[in-house]
Amino acid sequence: MPEETIFSKIIRREIPASILFQDDRVTAFEDIRPQAPTHILIVPNKLIATVNDVTPEDEAALGHMFVVAAQVARAQGIAEDGYRLIINCGDHGGQEVYHLHMHLLGGRRLGPMLMRRD
Ligand code: 5GP
Repeated sequence: MPEETIFSKIIRREIPASILFQDDRVTAFEDIRPQAPTHILIVPNKLIATVNDVTPEDEAALGHMFVVAAQVARAQGIAEDGYRLIINCGDHGGQEVYHLHMHLLGGRRLGPMLMRRD
């Protein structure tokens, strides 16, 4: 079993977080250090450390994350203008918390996806 992170405690409501949505598969809560006017994390309740650890049995929960992302974006009033979904994986991907999660970012024009190096 991978080691639990702070996200498991948030999912179990053992530590405070601004939870916007929760069901038996997925939890969505506001990022503690927002990088855009809307910055929400969408997390499978099951501890999956990274995208590398995904298995076919996770397909339903991972697909559900997109349904929840669209629902939360609509509820936040950013669906029409658009937004960005990001999943970081591992060291080079910039992942800090090893419990797979999707960032939902919006509320302003976000600009290019990555800093250009050329
Ligand atoms: P990563 O870099 O792993 O893709 O993103 C981790 C995200 O989790 C970061 O944006 C960070 O601000 C957020 N985060 C880390 N610890 C906490 C916490 O305790 N509560 C909340 N709500 N967000 C957190």
